[in-house]
Amino acid sequence: MLNIQKINDAHNSIKDFAKVTPVVYSEALEYDLGNKLILKAENLQTTNSFKIRGSSNCIINRVKAFPDTKGVVTASSGNHGQAVAYVAYRLGLSATIVMPKTAPKAKINAVNRWGAKIELCGTTSGERLSRMQQIADEEGYFVVPPYDHYDIIAGQGTIGKEIMEQVHDVDAVLVPIGGGGLISGISYYIKHTNPKVQVIGVEPKGSNSMGVSIERGSITQLDSTKSIADGLLSLKPGDLTFPIVRENVDRIITVNEDEISNAVSKCIEYFKIVPEPSGAVTVAGALKTGWGKNKKVVAVVSGGNFDMERIQEFI
Ligand SMILES: *Cc1c(COP(=O)(O)O)cnc(C)c1O
Repeated sequence: MLNIQKINDAHNSIKDFAKVTPVVYSEALEYDLGNKLILKAENLQTTNSFKIRGSSNCIINRVKAFPDTKGVVTASSGNHGQAVAYVAYRLGLSATIVMPKTAPKAKINAVNRWGAKIELCGTTSGERLSRMQQIADEEGYFVVPPYDHYDIIAGQGTIGKEIMEQVHDVDAVLVPIGGGGLISGISYYIKHTNPKVQVIGVEPKGSNSMGVSIERGSITQLDSTKSIADGLLSLKPGDLTFPIVRENVDRIITVNEDEISNAVSKCIEYFKIVPEPSGAVTVAGALKTGWGKNKKVVAVVSGGNFDMERIQEFI
């Protein structure tokens, strides 16, 4: 179960791992485009994405309940893998991160930095999940799921708490959706403390499983996904995240690839914030819909990890 106490407790337990990230505002963007847009800059978070919040909360709670936990394992080539590797490094736990054989060098290096063991395995997520389970069984490691766990969701929900404390009279909060852990935590916190605030989910057009599932009224799996927002490529929502989103999210919108690229460049130009494409979909959503024209809108910029060589494509 999720409740406000769990999110408050998470905020307290993760404070040595996760930073209270700044909120940033651009007078020039408001002047040029008319949007009173405030960014919650999780690109400046430890390991450069919000994923540290959920994974540190989940691992800390696990170690409290089972002090003899030997290590942790997860399957992720992205931000979740980096966050889990970092938390394990800080807590002195062993960690294995299962990644696809095709994982780019930059992502491998980012996990290597924290001393985690990397297992390159197959190209499909099915192969990686079964290898992950095998390692968990053989080594007695704890599996850290990317989104579908209440401790993960409570950790991500600490962003909702910070936004409500940092921004007064906020009208709406825009949140990216992958598997739905981030928006579950944030929307739950906001709707249970200040239900007048609108929570709007943003998905890429080519990866909109949450929007489709909400519309159909049940968890729906897509055949495939495609977007430059590579942190948002979930084929279906989680069993835990779907009902939380259905209860607490006001609306889900989609943005296309050009809108995402343009938002990356606007973040750099106006806010001096470098988001990865997954982190910029909220800004794309705000610019597209004109949200923020006469309302105070916060866009969660969820991460800032992308290849240095690729930044020029967006400028
Ligand atoms: C994981 C991730 C998301 C999506 O989070 P979910 O909890 O899977 O919905 C969004 N942005 C970035 C940068 C991420 O790493």
